Amino acid sequence: MRKIVMASGNQGKIREIRAKIEEFDLELVSQKELGVTDVPEDGLSFIENSLIKARNASRQTNMPAMADDSGIVVPALGGQPGIFSARYAGEHASDQANVDKLLNELAKVPSADRSAYFYCAIVYVQFPDDPTPLVAVGKCLGRIAQSVSGNEGFGYDPIFYLPEQGCTAAELPLAEKNRISHRGQALAKFVSLYREAFVSVDGE
Ligand code: IMP
Repeated sequence: MRKIVMASGNQGKIREIRAKIEEFDLELVSQKELGVTDVPEDGLSFIENSLIKARNASRQTNMPAMADDSGIVVPALGGQPGIFSARYAGEHASDQANVDKLLNELAKVPSADRSAYFYCAIVYVQFPDDPTPLVAVGKCLGRIAQSVSGNEGFGYDPIFYLPEQGCTAAELPLAEKNRISHRGQALAKFVSLYREAFVSVDGE
C-alpha cells in the first residue's frame, strides 16, 4: 500500500477523501499524525495555497502529499471572501461572525448580484518540488440568501441557496450535499486525474 500524507488535520475531510480513493492502493495519513508543522498560506488563489500546503507536507515527510483548499466566492464583492473565507471576519472568527459579515457586505449590493459559488482545489505532489502536480478543481453555484436557514453543514451553508434544490446547503442531508458540493466535484476529477496519471490500463 502506498502512503500519502494529507495536508489537513480535518478528520471529516480525510474520511470523505478516503472513501473516494478506495479503488487505489493508497493509505491516507493525516499530517498531524506525522508531526508536520504548518506553513503560511500566502498564495493568491485556492490552487496556490493547496500547492503550498502539499509541498510543505511532502518536504517534511519525504512522502507524496495531497492538500485541498476551499471557500466561497462572491463576484459582486470582487471575489471575497475567497481564500480568506475561514477568517473573513477576523483571525479565528466563528462561522456565525463570517456569515454576519457577508450578509452585511451584501446589504449594499442589488439583489440580482447575490450570485456566489463554493470553490475547492485538490492537489497532489509525488515529491516536494514536483513540476507536474495533479490539480483538480470543483465549483458549486448558488446565491447568497437574505438570511440563514437550516441546521446541517457548517461555514456559509446556512446562507448558500441552491436554486436547483430550492433550499440552502444547510437544509440538505450530508450525503446529498457531498454529491453536489465543490469538494465532491473536485474529488471526482482528482480520481480520474490520478487514474490517468498512475494507473495503467491493466490496473498495474
Ligand atoms: P477549508 O479550506 O476547508 O478550511 O475551508 C475554508 C472556509 O471556507 C471554511 O472555514 C468555511 O468557512 C468555508 N467553506 C469551505 N467549504 C465549505 C462548505 O462546504 N460549506 C460552507 N462553508 C465552506
